[in-house]
Amino acid sequence: MANYDTVLVRFGELSTKGKNRKDFINRLFRNIQYMLRDFHELEYQKAYDRIYIRLNGADHEKIREKLQKVFGISSFSFTEKVPADMESIISACVRIASESDARTFKMITRRHDKSFPLRSDDINRQTASAILKNTDLKVDVHDPELPIRVEVRREAAYITSEKIPGAGGYPAGINGKVLLMLSGGIDSPVAAYQLMKRGLNVEAVHFASPPYTSENARNKVLTLAGMVSEYQGKMKVHIVNFTDIQLNIYKTAGDPYAVTLMRRMMFRLAEKIAQKNGCLAVGTGESIGQVASQTLESIACINEAVRIPILRPLVCYDKLEIIELAKKIGTYETSILPYEDCCTIFDPKNPVTKPTVEKAEYFEGMFDWQTHLETACEEAETVVVQPEQEEESFL
Ligand code: ATP
Ligand code: MG
Repeated sequence: MANYDTVLVRFGELSTKGKNRKDFINRLFRNIQYMLRDFHELEYQKAYDRIYIRLNGADHEKIREKLQKVFGISSFSFTEKVPADMESIISACVRIASESDARTFKMITRRHDKSFPLRSDDINRQTASAILKNTDLKVDVHDPELPIRVEVRREAAYITSEKIPGAGGYPAGINGKVLLMLSGGIDSPVAAYQLMKRGLNVEAVHFASPPYTSENARNKVLTLAGMVSEYQGKMKVHIVNFTDIQLNIYKTAGDPYAVTLMRRMMFRLAEKIAQKNGCLAVGTGESIGQVASQTLESIACINEAVRIPILRPLVCYDKLEIIELAKKIGTYETSILPYEDCCTIFDPKNPVTKPTVEKAEYFEGMFDWQTHLETACEEAETVVVQPEQEEESFL
């Protein structure tokens, strides 16, 4: 039996990052260990351009599934670790070839240890000729059914026949902190995922309007936050009471401008909370044209209320593309649960699609929103969520 006992982790995109490389690798190393925290049998080793995980009997499928969620990994392979000598390398390659159903193969060798007596070409030739002699497989250098990869290092050689694509991106947390506006909808959890993929650490702010919004709606948001926190570890969620502000808006602005004002207030609150918590940008799940508040005119008018950069990772996505991603990251089913969030409750019938800053400011002049924002900010509650624990597994 091929004995895949070690996972070899590659991180392509990072290799180009010169001086920050060490931080990147250290963060990736920590993130991998965090993702695999339930597997106590694993042993880790960090090298200049690879991370190795000794499996010690851990379940391959489960490890594969978890590793595919770690940002910053370009690919990984389950490998057989053998002594770095030709006899061991050849016998591992022949074993892998003879156990495979493939009809064609190709040897792909990388010799990292330049003191190894044979060059890559020679290693390819010797292993290939042993496979040809001992199995029915034929060589196909262009489109092999079974590519067999050999990495020769000083301490050992690693042999594998598969290369599993990783999630790509940068290790979560390496590029600073962003405050994401998290509703209970489909879009914003997906936005969280996309921001984390770019290496950002995501904190969330949620605007709730009790008693118009229920405890269920609040719990739904925390559940969603817990789900996406899987990709970065813990996640802070700031919950802001938005009721007073919303009621005031309805009293003063009335129907058409209510959404515009509400969103300008949300952005202002988000900016304040971002600054208070060291986040350099605010993120949203907005996408051009999706609803009245997401026309270009609306976005311009709403954005005018703040100076902080706004990151909109879904800005050019179709709803169907977003839904597909939501299903992939597992948030979709929770997002479509029918609990009201603060926008749907006060849903106006005729929101403007082309609001102007002048009119928005005119309505805003009718109440003392600054004080309301201060209070809402001061009274914000912060909850730390983390990924759900796996059920304890007993041996
Ligand atoms: P989502 O599916 O993320 O709720 P949406 O398509 O329903 O988005 P809107 O309700 O207009 O669109 O919200 C646009 C964005 O504003 C959301 O993606 C989210 O980032 C933010 N947002 C909306 N409502 C809230 C809320 N109650 N708390 C925090 N952020 C919110
Ligand atoms: Mg929404």
